[in-house]
Amino acid sequence: MKLDCDLSYDLIRTQRKTLGLTVERDGNITLRAPLDCPQIVIDNFFKDKKMWVYKKLAEKKMVEEQLPPKKYVNGNGFFYLGKSYRLQLVDDGAPLKLSYGFFQLNKKYVANGKRIFIDWYRSHALPIIEGRVNIYKDMLGVNPGAVRVLDLQYRWGSCSSNGSLNIHWKTILAPMPIVDYVVVHELTHVNEKNHTKKFWEMVASILPDYEKRKDWTAELLEDGSLIVRDKIYSIPHIAIIILRKLKGSAHEYEVVIVVLFFQAVIALFAILSFFNV
Ligand SMILES: [Zn+2]
Repeated sequence: MKLDCDLSYDLIRTQRKTLGLTVERDGNITLRAPLDCPQIVIDNFFKDKKMWVYKKLAEKKMVEEQLPPKKYVNGNGFFYLGKSYRLQLVDDGAPLKLSYGFFQLNKKYVANGKRIFIDWYRSHALPIIEGRVNIYKDMLGVNPGAVRVLDLQYRWGSCSSNGSLNIHWKTILAPMPIVDYVVVHELTHVNEKNHTKKFWEMVASILPDYEKRKDWTAELLEDGSLIVRDKIYSIPHIAIIILRKLKGSAHEYEVVIVVLFFQAVIALFAILSFFNV
């Protein structure tokens, strides 16, 4: 989770000789440095690499945008607080409501399904997030500013320099333990801006199992994008995405070649494993 004034990173010092920077799957940035490397050297290194980081983040977004849009048809699952609820198209009533274990979408709004769902999530996220902030702010002894629910793209949350908290509306797709982790993480930033040892100690004092929750968030941010998109795992889809990413737009015959190649490799592995080779 980054401060919204600028990009920030998790610093990991290890027995290594060089500095290294990676953009994780969830958009978090990790900077690895030698044990004795001075902070000023690390800061300058990060400054030099900033354009590269922005480029990586933009590429991630581009791949995400090429996934096919989610379909608003009967039976499709949509997440809310870690549970998937099936969609029912109904003839009248509110544009969208959660009722009797189903998301009920008024048929008139199917064409705007994405917008309607996002509005629903946003309006339900605020009271939930505010409730959790009220619980944890006293436990942490911090006094945050305003709480806002926004689209933060690749981030779960941010804490601005005046102590106001921004939380991604997608957070309420995740189970409550994850919502709590996001809230505690950002609340801790009110007094401790960077991911220092002290920062993680403060998080751990409230959520001793925070590391597990932190790992989940990395997985879930990707899954979160699925509320407006369908899940894709097929090799042809992945090949097309990679080709488009590499070339801007891929030619049909290139896609066919890549797909045939991947399928041939998979077939070969299947045959080899069948004969126990
Ligand atoms: Zn953070």
